Amino acid sequence: MDYKKLCEDMVEYQILNRGILNKKLLAVMKTIPRHLFVSESMKASAYDDNPLPIGYGQTISQPYMVALMTDILEIKDSDKVLEVGAGSGYQAAILSRLAKKVVTVERVKELVDRTKKLLKKYKYNNVKVIHDDGTKGYDKEAPYNAIIITAATPTIPKKLLEQLAENGKLVAPVGPRYHQELIRVKKVKGKLEEEYFGGCIFVPLIPDE
Ligand code: SAH
Repeated sequence: MDYKKLCEDMVEYQILNRGILNKKLLAVMKTIPRHLFVSESMKASAYDDNPLPIGYGQTISQPYMVALMTDILEIKDSDKVLEVGAGSGYQAAILSRLAKKVVTVERVKELVDRTKKLLKKYKYNNVKVIHDDGTKGYDKEAPYNAIIITAATPTIPKKLLEQLAENGKLVAPVGPRYHQELIRVKKVKGKLEEEYFGGCIFVPLIPDE
């Protein structure tokens, strides 16, 4: 299987052709082998235009959705980023090549262990994987210039908005179980400004309590 070609085609046809023109992001996505983040039986489908199961009832998001959410975060190389829902580690790997530091929180212990190992093996060294309920954020490293929630949430957890830096941006799929709206919140002079980026469907964010 020519994974390199599949990866380049994925970026070209699924992402660039749908209007994401962020050159740095497109270049980074061409260098991150998505098949490394899925199980053996899923590798042949790793570059398909859809989400894929990663075990424990969870999924790795569709490549276009990963690109769109990353694009609208407008990450700078000096940024510290918080991800809620590490899952396979694919989104974190992309963020790690765009930001200074990435903290990613995951509640499923098995995914934490697997993803930690994987990110270490492939030298995504500026990513810290934390086992916890991400709706609380991760206070120790706050504030964050960018926060990404990669699971559906009925509302944006208050703690995450508190941990957002001034001029920081948070993106999240917000809404009920089977249909959410992709929302970006910017913190400008302490006030929150919301923008809407269309419908989407994610697995639910599950708080500990
Ligand atoms: N970003 C991931 C996709 C994540 S799917 C990737 O690139 O593969 C959503 C993830 O959120 C799942 O792994 C799920 O276990 C996790 N999750 C659900 N509720 C959570 C919570 N409260 N805190 C942290 N992670 C959570």
